[in-house]
Amino acid sequence: MSWEKNVRKVTPYVAGEQPRGKVIKLNTNEFPYAPSPMVATKIYDLAQEELDGSSSMLRKYPDMDATKLVNAVVSVYNELYFRDDKAGSGLGFDNVFIGVGSDDVLAMAFMTFFNSGKPVLFPDITYSFYDVWADVHRIPYATQALTGDFSIDVNDYLNKENGGIVIPNPNAPTGVYEDPSMFEEIVRANPDSVVIIDEAYVDFGGESCLPLINKYDNVLVVQTFSKSRALAGLRIGAAFGNEKLIKYLKDVKFAFNSYTMNYPAIELATVSVLDTDYWKDTVARVIKTREWTKEKLRELGFEFRNSKANFIFASHKSMPAREIFEKLREKDIYVRHWNKPRIDNHLRISIGTDEEMKELISTLLTILKDENPE
Ligand SMILES: *Cc1c(COP(=O)(O)O)cnc(C)c1O
Repeated sequence: MSWEKNVRKVTPYVAGEQPRGKVIKLNTNEFPYAPSPMVATKIYDLAQEELDGSSSMLRKYPDMDATKLVNAVVSVYNELYFRDDKAGSGLGFDNVFIGVGSDDVLAMAFMTFFNSGKPVLFPDITYSFYDVWADVHRIPYATQALTGDFSIDVNDYLNKENGGIVIPNPNAPTGVYEDPSMFEEIVRANPDSVVIIDEAYVDFGGESCLPLINKYDNVLVVQTFSKSRALAGLRIGAAFGNEKLIKYLKDVKFAFNSYTMNYPAIELATVSVLDTDYWKDTVARVIKTREWTKEKLRELGFEFRNSKANFIFASHKSMPAREIFEKLREKDIYVRHWNKPRIDNHLRISIGTDEEMKELISTLLTILKDENPE
């Protein structure tokens, strides 16, 4: 067809499978526990208000700025991240951008900040959406190889001409966490670029780089409600940065669609972020399960870097990852495997409930025994 030459052709991002029914799903890093019970209560209250007509919000356009949610985030995050920050002035309303999941936030940030024509830098092994966004927005990029043990070599990001930098901390799918001081070095060395730190997994044991936003005007910290807040289905993400960065992000967002955040999502994310106790308790449970799982996997002959995320990226001493992946799948246990150079002998295993991880470990035991009968 002759119009086809004018099509913007892209290779889309490939997400992990979403099998339905009774399976053990450890392939897309979803949180294993329900979100705060306040969220379900709020759904009920919103439905009640619609029904009795006391407030028919669905009829109206939502608040473009998601003011209620941003205010909640500002008050909670100032307590969590800026209490001991002597240098900074904390977080204000104009330091926060809310989007439809951090995928939306990141896509907007690529479009807003990476326009120099110079290559954007990110690790060769990382979130596999970065090259997709670069391609769809026609941004050149240059991947920087992680070291043999999947660490970031800071020198790759210090003296290279670039049009921007994006790195997750902890990195995905490796789970490897780097200290905020390394990111500060990168931010300081690149005043002409925006440095994006993707903190999708930082709540599972890492320290956030958020305080850097008060010290540097070229750093954007991105977080999500999909992992530690158990709201992947609601689609809520956030970016934090200097007022000017946030203003530019909003301008681009409002140039596409002023009403990206729907009214129920704003209301539900607000009650979620305010329930700090529930969030802390459930995250601590996942961390405990992760540490138990590490121990058991090691006993079974798996090797992995220490993960500070809600997943473990492991390879087995003798059985190929692809084979384990397929055998687990036959038993309705889904983990993630990529046919990609350097990582094709690894499995990314999300942390589920204690029961799910016990089932995983006993199934792995059977699979590995069948291979090596005594
Ligand atoms: C899961 C994930 C995201 C995006 O999650 P959303 O559901 O879109 O908020 C972003 N970055 C990384 C590294 C992730 O793993």
